[in-house]
Amino acid sequence: MNKDSLNNVKRRVYMAALASGLLAVVLLWANSGLTDPSMMVTFPLFALFSLCCIWALWRGTVPILVIERTAFAGGAGFALIHMAYALYVSEDLSGARTNVTEISFLTLTALYVAATLVFDRSAALRISLALFGTSLVLVLARAVLEIPAGSLDLAEISWVVRMNGFMGAIIALSYASSYVKDEMLRQRIAAESMRQLAHTDQLTGVANRRRFRTDLREEMEKARRYGRPLCVILFDLDSFKRINDSYGHDRGDAVLREIVRTIRPLLRETDHLGRWGGEEFIIMTPETDLLQSHLLAERLRKHIAHHEIDSTPGVTASFGIARFQPDDSEKTLIKRADEALYRAKALGRNRVEAAA
Ligand code: GH3
Ligand code: MG
Ligand code: MG
Repeated sequence: MNKDSLNNVKRRVYMAALASGLLAVVLLWANSGLTDPSMMVTFPLFALFSLCCIWALWRGTVPILVIERTAFAGGAGFALIHMAYALYVSEDLSGARTNVTEISFLTLTALYVAATLVFDRSAALRISLALFGTSLVLVLARAVLEIPAGSLDLAEISWVVRMNGFMGAIIALSYASSYVKDEMLRQRIAAESMRQLAHTDQLTGVANRRRFRTDLREEMEKARRYGRPLCVILFDLDSFKRINDSYGHDRGDAVLREIVRTIRPLLRETDHLGRWGGEEFIIMTPETDLLQSHLLAERLRKHIAHHEIDSTPGVTASFGIARFQPDDSEKTLIKRADEALYRAKALGRNRVEAAA
């Protein structure tokens, strides 16, 4: 998923979450009729703030990062200020106080889950724990203040403990879920790059022999089933030992890389190129008959012979071609290409030979 579509998903999710929160607040408002002064201040403010965020998300002009952080900070501010107000400023309305702080607890719970979307894993944990600690201190300090007055309500204390236990569980689960997801993603990426490494020739970046053979078996199966043409072109650089001896092994390596880089554009998207080993490469051309493959091999031969590969004069290659037969195995097909290549070498190198 690219960044744009990820942000679009985020926008929709945030809009849905804010709209649900807004709905919950309005319903509560309608139900209780704003009996508590804390509700009269924070509720309209929270509703207005949510509407602004939804509008900004809808418009899509404000960067998502700004909106999500602002909305998070607004939500956290709402929950904590509301809680502090309900606990310390508003008149004790007996049972109503738990109702009021409940709204803060619910908002905080939503924020603990949202934190894993808005921040990276460890920042989300730190921010969630800071919010959790602050709300716990607010509640505990209030309870301590009530001890001398003898008005400590055990049922209320038990409720607060349950609420905090629940919030702690939500934080732990949110952290665990993002940890597991991050870890799975990391492992998938590692496995993918291992797979890539195991199938790629390190020097030239083309398919290695193992990968090429897998692809060849697949293409042979298709060619057999649908009666389609398929050819294999094996080519080997001529007198490469001399190039190594004259210019050094590093230059030899550079020539091998350069060969791959310059012939690739001459191949079709559907052709496969691999390094068969040493200074020997292999090409498979699906949907291409022997004549067309012969023309391709000629083009490649001329290209290598006429372009000064990596400013090294005298680089040429010999080519052997074989056409797939329905009763071919991978071995017999490559053996015929190899015999043709051997003939090209024997007939003087820098030439193309096709198996009969
Ligand atoms: P021919 O025309 O008969 O193919 O002669 P040749 O010298 O190319 O053949 P030979 O098989 O005798 O030698 C192949 C040389 O290719 C020897 C080897 O050191 C060199 N070679 C194989 N792989 C690499 C490589 O990865 N890098 C470099 N620089 N040289 C390589
Ligand atoms: Mg050679
Ligand atoms: Mg060789």
